[in-house]
Amino acid sequence: MIENDSKLSIEKSASGRRALVFNARNKNGIKIPQHLLRDTEPLLPELSELEVIRHYTLLSHKNFSLDANFYPLGSCTMKYNPRINEIVSSLKNFEDLHPLSDDACAQGTLELLYHLEKALCEICAMDATTLTPAAGAHGEFTGAAIVKAYFENKGEKQRVQIVIPDSAHGTNPATSSMLGFETVEIKSNEKGQIDIETLKKALSERTAMLMLTIPNTLGIFEADIEKIVSIAHNSGVVVYMDGANMNALIGILKPGDMGIDLMHLNMHKTFSTPHGGGGPGAGAICVKKYLEPFLPVPRVIKEKGMFRTKSDCPLSIGKIKSFFGNTAVLIKSYAYILSHSNDSLSEISKNAIINANYLLKKLGKLYPPHNREYCMHECVLSCPEELLKNQVRTLDVAKRLLDFGLHAPTVYFPLIVKEALMIEPTETESKETLDAFIQAMQKIYEEGKYHPETLKKAPINLATKRMDETFAARNPDLRWESKKTCSSKV
Ligand SMILES: *Cc1c(COP(=O)(O)O)cnc(C)c1O
Repeated sequence: MIENDSKLSIEKSASGRRALVFNARNKNGIKIPQHLLRDTEPLLPELSELEVIRHYTLLSHKNFSLDANFYPLGSCTMKYNPRINEIVSSLKNFEDLHPLSDDACAQGTLELLYHLEKALCEICAMDATTLTPAAGAHGEFTGAAIVKAYFENKGEKQRVQIVIPDSAHGTNPATSSMLGFETVEIKSNEKGQIDIETLKKALSERTAMLMLTIPNTLGIFEADIEKIVSIAHNSGVVVYMDGANMNALIGILKPGDMGIDLMHLNMHKTFSTPHGGGGPGAGAICVKKYLEPFLPVPRVIKEKGMFRTKSDCPLSIGKIKSFFGNTAVLIKSYAYILSHSNDSLSEISKNAIINANYLLKKLGKLYPPHNREYCMHECVLSCPEELLKNQVRTLDVAKRLLDFGLHAPTVYFPLIVKEALMIEPTETESKETLDAFIQAMQKIYEEGKYHPETLKKAPINLATKRMDETFAARNPDLRWESKKTCSSKV
């Protein structure tokens, strides 16, 4: 068999091979000053077009991707992204629209954004929406800025604290601190929920906002949510919901009905377009009527049958992103919502919950779960004691999964669970895929018990073996340098 290692193929450089030959004729007679012309050839590999194609195709096969691998990355909702979304969002009229176009020339896009805002208000039982934030965390930042502006306008400047349970997503304390809020962390009870007495003690006339991730990062729903909201409201506190986990609730429960005042949605999680490839996201903020005046500008409004952008909003927190945010992602989300009826929206969350509970029941026998009884769209397990005794840790289990062609779950998060494995299968996976994952996890358990050295070395079958991830992140070396040097004269 021919050695087809993609690393080597770029080393196959041979003098004079070309993938592309430029026509050197200078038709327009443009004179490039002599001192700007290079007098040596660039140090580039010399390869034929076919070799270049093979190199990149083989490299692409070495990537883990949602289109090729099961991707149970907890909290990230890595669901399948229907291809129709991509087709719709790359329609020429959307793609070619200049962001500075006059409103009259941007009616289609404005109309879509307007209807998407309305759809999200309906899904969440809220009154107004902005689509401008670029991601979930940016949505949180926007939400906290809205609450800050609200209290400043109300003359309650002493409200400088945000109360956050320890089961919240890590971005919650980070984004509120960026706005100058003090964060007050409250401990969850043994069920992984908010302890009512602890909450009461934490709230005061200095509290601006209670920031809840629902379901929380343990995959647990706050069963006492109505009581919690009413306690907060009685202290004049605004209740914010981190709605990035809305895949567990969509079509079943509307946050506005539980008394939530404002929330963000991760368009790139719940409404497909999963992240992970480093591409853009979008994070909508939905608010109750009394917070609408503080939403960022521009807003989209409908007037005399026309759609218009509106920026003269005196109480608005101002601009938080150029133009209307990442509209390509928003178009995909709208296509995704339209392709579901009201009934099938709830199929998303029901199936996401069933899939996660199936994994919890099957894997919970070997990997101790945080909550044995039930979970919402994700479950949190731990590395078993039997393996820890053999010096096998969660990281080793995660790395070994890669050898089975399965992406690892989120590890060591939430921080409140020791050696955590946070698994979110999403609704788009079949039972067969879940069974393959269960089998791999069972095999890894056996290996950890009887051949722990295999797990310490994993991944074994991939092109890249165990990496020092800190070093790779801090000192990325992304250049290619020829070892052999090409035929150039440099
Ligand atoms: C993903 C996530 C966030 C942050 O969203 P980004 O789009 O990654 O900024 C916040 N909260 C929760 C619960 C999440 O899962």
